[in-house]
Amino acid sequence: MTSKPSLIGQSQEDISLALSELNLPKFRARQIFEWLYARGATSFEEMTDLPKSLREQLDGLFSLKRVDLSKELISFDETRKWLLKLADGNEIETVFIPEKSRGTLCISSQVGCTLTCKFCHTGTQLLVRNLSAAEIVAQFMHAKDVFADWPSTKEDRRLTNIVMMGMGEPLYNYENVAKALKIIMDPKGLGLSKRRITLSTSGVVPEINRCGEELGVNLAISLHAVTDELRNQIMPINKKYPLKELLEACRNYPVVQTRGRITFEYVMLKDINDSIVDAKGLVKLIKGIPAKINLIPFNPWPGTDYECSSQQDINKFAKILEEAGYTSPIRTPRGQDIFAACGQLKSESERVRKRI
Ligand code: SF4
Repeated sequence: MTSKPSLIGQSQEDISLALSELNLPKFRARQIFEWLYARGATSFEEMTDLPKSLREQLDGLFSLKRVDLSKELISFDETRKWLLKLADGNEIETVFIPEKSRGTLCISSQVGCTLTCKFCHTGTQLLVRNLSAAEIVAQFMHAKDVFADWPSTKEDRRLTNIVMMGMGEPLYNYENVAKALKIIMDPKGLGLSKRRITLSTSGVVPEINRCGEELGVNLAISLHAVTDELRNQIMPINKKYPLKELLEACRNYPVVQTRGRITFEYVMLKDINDSIVDAKGLVKLIKGIPAKINLIPFNPWPGTDYECSSQQDINKFAKILEEAGYTSPIRTPRGQDIFAACGQLKSESERVRKRI
């Protein structure tokens, strides 16, 4: 066990501050920052352009520890789910989804979630705490370590995209998420373009504009219903920020003004939100917003009251959206054999621990 503070998740300014007592020239912080995030150094020993005596001194003061792995599950379709253990013993999930031309990492922003979206397994877990910026960056670095995906400028990277779509509501942990994404987007750091990062929110309206202005990442909205009446039931946050306000924030999202479009996530729930009337209502609701709609077949989890819509109903729904001019891919379920619902692996791990 190490009690040394880790430099992982620290910005260049933080590193500079941490080194201030050592009276080092400013450029040392930049060198260390680049070793950590551009080259993925796991020890000070590797930082060969630093004097040996300094490397030894730094090794005595700081660690470069990421997170511990509690469990790794690999699906037949090569989706990987990692249950990661944080320093205080809490666990979070991070998921890698490989596709033909890209590899997407789904990152968590909180341990548990305050919101209680009825179809979401993580929504059954209480919020324990926000993740620190370090814990958010460490998820990405862990995945890069697994695939030896260094340096960050490597041509054929396995990790090409990030979705902030794991456990938690990222806009309820905005400061830490923003700090982490700035490190991830820094061309001298992890170097991932903002165009390759999507932040997904259940609709925390007051933070949406700020996210676009400050980070410029793509925005995904967990929509899942087209009337306030239904959305209030299945996503209680809608009582606070109803559809009209949410859609207005989408229309004004800075990234939409300059490039790109909003992604609307729509989980297909049998006899709940999957009718022709719902599909037509959706077209009307998002009129005028450049958008793509991801239709997500519901992934049932133990204890849920919901069922997935039939393939036929999903196809009918998609057809209406396509006829209205929207790209509306039906998401292929991934990692079905490895506790596919978000938060399910964490719950299973807790159950096992309680049994023991
Ligand atoms: S869908 Fe997202 S915001 Fe809603 S309960 Fe699940 S993790 Fe929380």
